[in-house]
Amino acid sequence: MKLRILSGADVRRLMPMGEAIDLMARTMIAVSAREAVNPLRAVMALPGGKGRFGLMPGGLPDAGFGLKALSLFPDNPAAGLSSHLGLILLFEPEHGRPVAIVDAAEATSIRTAAVSGLATRLLAREDAADLAILGSGEQAASHLEAMAAVRSLRRVRVWSRTPEHAQAFATREAERHGLPVEVFPDVEAAVRGADLICTVTAARQPILRGPWVSAGAHVNAVGASMPNAAEIDEDLLRSARFFVDYRPSAEAEAGEYLMAKASGVIGPDHIAAEIGEVAANPGLGRRSGDEVTLFKSLGIAAEDVAVARFLVDRAEIDGAGQIADI
Ligand code: NDP
Repeated sequence: MKLRILSGADVRRLMPMGEAIDLMARTMIAVSAREAVNPLRAVMALPGGKGRFGLMPGGLPDAGFGLKALSLFPDNPAAGLSSHLGLILLFEPEHGRPVAIVDAAEATSIRTAAVSGLATRLLAREDAADLAILGSGEQAASHLEAMAAVRSLRRVRVWSRTPEHAQAFATREAERHGLPVEVFPDVEAAVRGADLICTVTAARQPILRGPWVSAGAHVNAVGASMPNAAEIDEDLLRSARFFVDYRPSAEAEAGEYLMAKASGVIGPDHIAAEIGEVAANPGLGRRSGDEVTLFKSLGIAAEDVAVARFLVDRAEIDGAGQIADI
């Protein structure tokens, strides 16, 4: 059997952000139509306490099925490595043969931002142009790219826990996008008046508070992905119209939502819709220019399978990657 191996550089080259957003639109519609298979992921703490290991199996009609195996080592960036490293294994749906191994760090970075790009395209005001990014890691960079793909940005602000990292991000990304990127010393100043806010940090306690978010803003909350972690506070969750990627994942993994529900701050019907439902029926999205919309991203395996299939199809056309006989 032939197995195609695609590196991070292959992934970057073969999947431009605009196409990734369109791919995620089709994928999330299939997810919300319950055409995909998305068991909850298994995440384990590793011996030694340095990192975690996550396994995400899933399948999509036609695309095939697969498994993303991803390690999470938060201190990796200091060593010049991604904090999320791993592989996506893709199998074809006809005979169940493994067909590809894809670098998961790059694929995760792009597909996560692409889903936020989709949410922003569907939920943000058309005139949203002032973006605040909280965090300065890999997702911060891919989210800036995704936001720029769906809205005409006029202004970009960044806050990060380590001010030097925010400054380095601003310098690098301003040059990359030809946009001014301003560094802010605190979260409140960074988000005041912003139309779009992306929270892309590894914070376990809320960094973004409801009263700081302007009427009419759209927020993509991407960081906290465990039941006991929160990046945004209960006030924001309660006051915003709340959208998720996949209800079963939200009910099991979305810390902000689960804690607010347990304490009675929100009711059991607080989820307005999955983003795939909005993509299929845009009438479910924003209802006025004043409401705050909030998209909680947890990430699901169908996204990874869709991305791997897209990449393999592209690679077959242009011969990208390496072929191994197994
Ligand atoms: P990176 O390791 O590249 O960056 C981590 C960022 O989090 C840095 O900006 C860092 O700030 C910041 N940070 C770390 N700890 C804290 C803290 N306690 N308080 C505030 N900020 C903190 O990670 P990624 O960019 O790849 O991922 C960002 C988040 O998104 C992670 O939580 C990750 O698990 C999540 N994620 C979610 C996905 C989804 O599908 N929803 C998919 C992939 C990732 P600094 O460097 O300035 O100290």
